[in-house]
Amino acid sequence: MTKKLLIISLLLFFINVDAQKRKEFFKSPDGVFLISSDLHIHTVFSDGEVWPSIRVKEARRDGLDLISMTEHLEYLSYKNDIDIKDRNRSFQISNAMLSENEPLMIINGTEITKPMPPGHFNAVFVKDSNTLINPDGEQAITEANKQGAFVFWNHPNWIENRDDGIARFDEIHERLLKKKLFHGIEVVNEHTYSEEALALALENNLTIMGTSDIHGLIDWTFDKKKKHHRPITFIISENTTKKHIRDALFSQKTFVWHRDMLIGKKENLLPVIHKNLSISSNGYYKKIVTIKIKNHSVVPFKLKYLGEYTFHSYGSVIEIPANGELSVTVKTKKVLDKIEMPFEVLNIITAPKQNLKISKIVKL
Ligand code: ZN
Repeated sequence: MTKKLLIISLLLFFINVDAQKRKEFFKSPDGVFLISSDLHIHTVFSDGEVWPSIRVKEARRDGLDLISMTEHLEYLSYKNDIDIKDRNRSFQISNAMLSENEPLMIINGTEITKPMPPGHFNAVFVKDSNTLINPDGEQAITEANKQGAFVFWNHPNWIENRDDGIARFDEIHERLLKKKLFHGIEVVNEHTYSEEALALALENNLTIMGTSDIHGLIDWTFDKKKKHHRPITFIISENTTKKHIRDALFSQKTFVWHRDMLIGKKENLLPVIHKNLSISSNGYYKKIVTIKIKNHSVVPFKLKYLGEYTFHSYGSVIEIPANGELSVTVKTKKVLDKIEMPFEVLNIITAPKQNLKISKIVKL
């Protein structure tokens, strides 16, 4: 092998290795993977505006691990231009684009689209979307369940369906829930967040979901220059196989990243924040100690200090930038050998009007 060839092949090797690396949004708690996902996506195979290949490229750019093309069974905006015989086509086209070792995975899905009630439901991990075409929403959802699908209620706060924007169950939702025919609920859909949907999720043991419901282009809908990003559901999975990811969805092991907020159950979020917030001491000067707070995640942490002391240069609310750090000087009145640092994380929501609380003991 010539020297030139050797350099080229080494370069290709490193480019390839880099392409196969998963994007780390957060440091993962020990023993789990945080699977970044968007499970509500449209293409021209229903009423989206792009070919499925663009969705794969957008997901790669955003560093996602898992997506699903959830085409409406009932809305086919381009049926005069595209003859859609097989409702699994957008999944097949996009899945065929994936190379063997790339982190992105795609699962088959669809959107069962009925007027209210019951409204729109996504079914992911379906085997064949064609068999779900049914004028009766309840029957379609039942069939999806027979295929082993994970089913969730989309945008229960959608103002076209709920003119007050308040998510609530109708009789059919209660019945579906009783029969365990749906398993999750969108608390975040595109730009909206619903506290009422979060309450329904917590009261009824439903998985908390957040999705883009993208129809146009991701970058036009979520402007990165304005620090917007698509909503991402992180699935806390034992490993990166589809089987384990599906199990984790059924076990309600998720949290959602929307704008600067994280939304999820306390037991899911607490280990993640513990791992991504590290606090250490830079020692005393006189009786004032410097505490360094580091954030290892893509989300800024807005912290409200709940302890007994006061800071020397800040009030009780501080912000630790994404992948950044902040030092605060604490007036402890006397020199201590350790200090407890309790915080409320103002942008992490664990229930309506409730934020995550976290406390760390720091050796001084
Ligand atoms: Zn949709």
